[in-house]
Amino acid sequence: MTKRTDYCGQLSSDDIGRTVTVCGWVAKRREHGEFLAFVDLRDRTGIVQCVVDHAHDIRSEYVLAVTGTVRERPAETMNTDLPTGSIEIGEATVEILSSAEPPPFQIDGRVDVDETIRIRHRYLDLRTGRMQQNLRSRAAINAAIRRSMEDQDFVEVETPMLIASTPEGARDFVVPSRLSPGDFYALPQSPQLFKQLCMVGGIDRYYQVARCMRDEDLRADRQFEFTQLDMEMSFADGEQVRAVVSEAVSDATEIITGDRPDSIPEMPWIEAMNRYGSDKPDVRFGLELVELTEVFAGTDFNAFKASTVKGIKVESGADIGRNQLDQLTDKAKSWGAKGLVWIKVGPSGEVTSPVAKFMSEAEISGLLSAMDANEGDICYLVADDWRPVVHVLGLLRLELGRPPVNEGGLRFLWVVDFPLFQDVDDDGNPLPAHHPFTMPHSEDLELLSNSNAPADLLKVRSQAYDLVLNGWELGSGSVRIHRREIQQQIFNMLGINEEESQKKFGFLMDAFRYGAPPHAGFAFGIDRLVALLVGEENIREVIAFPKTQSGADPLTNAPSSIDASQLDELGLRVLPPAT
Ligand code: ASP
Repeated sequence: MTKRTDYCGQLSSDDIGRTVTVCGWVAKRREHGEFLAFVDLRDRTGIVQCVVDHAHDIRSEYVLAVTGTVRERPAETMNTDLPTGSIEIGEATVEILSSAEPPPFQIDGRVDVDETIRIRHRYLDLRTGRMQQNLRSRAAINAAIRRSMEDQDFVEVETPMLIASTPEGARDFVVPSRLSPGDFYALPQSPQLFKQLCMVGGIDRYYQVARCMRDEDLRADRQFEFTQLDMEMSFADGEQVRAVVSEAVSDATEIITGDRPDSIPEMPWIEAMNRYGSDKPDVRFGLELVELTEVFAGTDFNAFKASTVKGIKVESGADIGRNQLDQLTDKAKSWGAKGLVWIKVGPSGEVTSPVAKFMSEAEISGLLSAMDANEGDICYLVADDWRPVVHVLGLLRLELGRPPVNEGGLRFLWVVDFPLFQDVDDDGNPLPAHHPFTMPHSEDLELLSNSNAPADLLKVRSQAYDLVLNGWELGSGSVRIHRREIQQQIFNMLGINEEESQKKFGFLMDAFRYGAPPHAGFAFGIDRLVALLVGEENIREVIAFPKTQSGADPLTNAPSSIDASQLDELGLRVLPPAT
């Protein structure tokens, strides 16, 4: 094979007169007169036009080595859309290195190709400029993050993949043990417990670009397998952890955009919920939730006799049609609202609404002034308990105003002071909002010991924090409990008794007997960060070999059955499908 001297996309007018050899795939072939053909040759750097002898039988995606002399293109054939559009390789000789069948979809054809077909032939999809660029950006981001952590004196430690279950709240992927039939390993949902053990082990500043596995339904921002930047530090508080992580994500952002983000603002969880109806607010746009409970405190309108009334105003939004309003109402109901009230403001401040007749004048004027609503505006109102109100309006806000992924800049945000518990289960046990190793807020320890009333428990703040970017949760972390007795108390409150906690987390509790330093940490999803930085709506586009929406890999056919002998060896028997 003739040796490559240059990459296609890197040739320029500086190379005119040089004899070069480029290697790659045929992106396009066009006849030129009787004896010549134009071949656009593609490699990972781009495309260059080659003028070759017509005698060659060359088709799309053939693999060629092309040798010829770089020359200026005739003025009429210059292509300003192509970086190499002012030159071509002339009088080229061609060596066919591989022939190719017609591909199942046109590469770089910009046609929508079915997801399963793309992933079944992912190696062809990877040839596209989009995937080449995305994977390079991903590699650059990974490298920037590693460099940043190393510069901040963190040590990369690899933790095991075959472990006992980690409680991140998702379903485990399990691996049967051959040497201990009937027993199973779990694949890590995160390296959480190992990084805490690293702290007891005096590593002091740990990080890992960690692969994690969670058996949850797949979504645009979720695959079974994902990559996290996982970190933990000793003798440090949440503020120090956030500073380290801010530095790493800023370094990653700068590598891609050329701009360093401003310092990342912080917002308490309760403020995020009240203003944006979300613990991962997309602060690229306004449409904030407005508090109206007081306005309707003495209302006769039954639907508004609720503990919370809030609304969203859309400026100049009153020209929305009845059909769309009905659709919004249906959506709000599917999110859990009892109803959605809309009120349009007319030219002289008069309002139009199906429920205007149930509101007093004072309520209407109070509402308009609280929402600063003027002619042409529309207000959407929801009344219920606080949680459903903020939940529904948070989703409505996204529906009404969320910009596409690549518009509105990159708005990082730290959400701090999460509650310790997110809810109470049917048995009255509180459910942890983060994971059970999160330290309660020191000022709220009282609430934790004084009372078991669920309403009070839900008020306990934790020292947990999330990093949010454009409405996506990039990651979570917390100050950890490093004292056995507090950890046991939290386990007890979560309904995990001593026997169970000993069985599941005994190794951590035992380690804490031997001197555990105070420690805190964080992990953020690299797939999500890359997707947002390169402007992709789905993390699949920044993963070389992703699964489809249904969790399958049509390329390798995973998951698939295994041999009877393998099952025997593992002591497993597969039941017939439930009828
Ligand atoms: N282990 C947590 C997670 O994967 C992150 C952390 O608390 O450090 O979400």
